[in-house]
Amino acid sequence: MDSIPLVDTDDRAALRKLARDVAERDIAPHAARWDETEEFAEESLEALRRAELFTVTIGEAYGGMGMGDLEAAIVLEEIARVDVSSAILAQLVFNGPPRAIEHLGNETLRSRWLPDAASGELFCIGITEPDAGSAATTMRAHLVPDGDGWRLEAYKNYVTGGHKAVACLVWCRFPGSEPGTGKGIGAVLVDLSKPEVSVAGTHKKMGLRGCTEAELAFDGVRVEPEDVLVMGDPADNSGLKTLLAHINHERCGNAAMCVGAAQGALEYAIAYMHTRTVGNRKLADLQGLQWKIADLGVELEAARLLLLRALVLAGDGGTPPALESAMAKIACNLAAKRVCDEAIQLLGGYGYSREYPVERAYRDIRGLCIGAGTVEVQRNFVGTSLLGGRNPKGDHWKPPLL
Ligand SMILES: Cc1cc2nc3c(=O)[nH]c(=O)nc-3n(C[C@H](O)[C@H](O)[C@H](O)COP(=O)(O)OP(=O)(O)OC[C@H]3O[C@@H](n4cnc5c(N)ncnc54)[C@H](O)[C@@H]3O)c2cc1C
Repeated sequence: MDSIPLVDTDDRAALRKLARDVAERDIAPHAARWDETEEFAEESLEALRRAELFTVTIGEAYGGMGMGDLEAAIVLEEIARVDVSSAILAQLVFNGPPRAIEHLGNETLRSRWLPDAASGELFCIGITEPDAGSAATTMRAHLVPDGDGWRLEAYKNYVTGGHKAVACLVWCRFPGSEPGTGKGIGAVLVDLSKPEVSVAGTHKKMGLRGCTEAELAFDGVRVEPEDVLVMGDPADNSGLKTLLAHINHERCGNAAMCVGAAQGALEYAIAYMHTRTVGNRKLADLQGLQWKIADLGVELEAARLLLLRALVLAGDGGTPPALESAMAKIACNLAAKRVCDEAIQLLGGYGYSREYPVERAYRDIRGLCIGAGTVEVQRNFVGTSLLGGRNPKGDHWKPPLL
């Protein structure tokens, strides 16, 4: 996303500089501690609030800067370059429920929640359940009629920041919905201070240890008509389709964090190679390792360009297209996995030590390959799209020999 004439503007360069300064000054010095102790990255939250970085994607009418996916990706990339857990705090606001509220919500929802988002309150999203992950259509969360509104019965698993957020966007079945299908699935906003909501547990994880995932129980919490973000129609799966399309924001944000983490690991490995000598030669002088750096650089830049295409196609205030977002997520997830893995290798034994940041980046991005739709699920979508004659620009396309 850096230095590409098509998208580079002075405003974007200034935003990148601001995000990099905050990342290096206020976040990087604490990242190893949050990882070691698994404590929530509170200082990071404060730093992002102080720099008003949570305002990036929120509309101007609600106290934000009204920028789009490209600017969100720039900030996410810069923060993830030093700490992915902290970038996720911004991701929850940029590409989580607040963006969905702004695009899909009613005015009551917008004026109730968007000023909070701009001031850096966290939001979370509850889709996954213990028995419903990749196959969201098997979810059990449901609304029970209650006068002019409903009561929500749900148990959501793996909710990022669920124990710290002020509100959760809960995907659930509306009355009449057919279990095991997408029919009738919609989504509602739930104020997490309500007494019928409880944090049932938090996950101990391999990485992303500065930003916990929670299990949330919703025991008959009242849902008003104005809390509905997307109505589920029991006759069809239109609600689910709308929600799934909107997840492309989150996919691109996830991909941007992978690019940032990989960039940080690659820069660290390159700097190390200029100082470390084996025998009487610098690592940077060994051709076998120069080729490795070349391959990693090519892979990372290719992934970054795929992401850039999805972001540019989103346009001003739009949503990144599905096929391009899925391709970008696959490429960025896999590039980050390889770059961070090879960065460990390039540092030798030190790379495997928790005293050096590259192994943390590897553990962190590992979670990003699962969240926001796994690599396998993205491949299913890309494969069936291409086999169905769709090409990445959205035109109808057939392989030349058919
Ligand atoms: C760091 C992190 C943060 C997360 N944050 C949130 C959050 O905030 N909110 C939320 O709701 N969820 C969140 N999740 C949950 C995440 O969305 C799910 O873990 C993910 O969708 C996969 O679901 P699952 O874990 O149930 O795995 P399963 O669906 O059980 O899949 C198991 C394996 O089978 C593969 N698989 C599944 N179906 C297919 C298929 N049709 N073809 C080929 N392979 C397939 C998967 O790719 C995976 O490798 C998060 C997860 C992680 C790791």
